[in-house]
Amino acid sequence: MTAPAGPRVHKHLLPGIDPRILALRVPDEVDGFVVRTERFVALVDTLGTPELCEQALELIADETAGRPLLVINTHADWDHVWGNAAVEGRAPVIGHRSATARVRSAGAQDTLRTKRAADDRFAGVRLIAPTVTFDTPLTLDGGDLTLELLHTPGHTPDHIAVWIPELRVCLAGDAAEDPLPELWEADAASLKQLTASLDLLRSLAPDHVLPSHGGTTDPALLDRNLSYFASLLTGRHADAVREGSLSFEAVFPDSTELSAGARAFYETCHDKAVRAAAATLGATAEQRQAAGLPG
Ligand SMILES: [Zn+2]
Repeated sequence: MTAPAGPRVHKHLLPGIDPRILALRVPDEVDGFVVRTERFVALVDTLGTPELCEQALELIADETAGRPLLVINTHADWDHVWGNAAVEGRAPVIGHRSATARVRSAGAQDTLRTKRAADDRFAGVRLIAPTVTFDTPLTLDGGDLTLELLHTPGHTPDHIAVWIPELRVCLAGDAAEDPLPELWEADAASLKQLTASLDLLRSLAPDHVLPSHGGTTDPALLDRNLSYFASLLTGRHADAVREGSLSFEAVFPDSTELSAGARAFYETCHDKAVRAAAATLGATAEQRQAAGLPG
């Protein structure tokens, strides 16, 4: 027998975090989470393929025994929801209303074609939209724990974060990331949305912030991400942003521990943020008004 090909899911307790929350980690790809409450078990994200999601469901079989399963999609990016086919018909899949159009978009079909051509492990992926959608904050009352689903756009339009007030834990999805979260577009509106989302999460004063990438639980991640964006707009980097000359190294001189692949990714995220900041600084008064920015 040979070991099954492709990435594996690992179930982790997180240091300092209540054991009712477990991480489901696909190394170098994404972290899903499971939250066990008295009334239900919530799987937060279905990972990048149905096979990975099946592995995750096996790993949490003890947690789900005797309790209904609810699935939450933080946002319709491939690494978070392409496992949805594994839970189709088995559990409600909860997501923001705008996730449905993203799952069914031509862009999603294109991404699937591209990833299938590059890697056989995507052969079993089917694009499955959430079955329960919401616009305003949605509260799931698990008895001992409450899950508040908060619309936090800016990384993507459909992005939601999960706030668990009893544990002061925020599952931040991709709204927060080390060293920086990626913007949806390199424009003023995306930058404004993402900073507003980070502000909202920080206003909750979480003790623990668990993003979907990077494995940290440090609540100061929100402050670091907000400081980064502020430094582009009003801080010490604003002049370089205006000149279009702000390098990744200039802002993140200590990021030498990043792998080559991660560094290349975050450099593109930084370039996008700089262009969004330049658009914000250079936007005309009319454009600023239309985007809801201060004049
Ligand atoms: Zn992601």
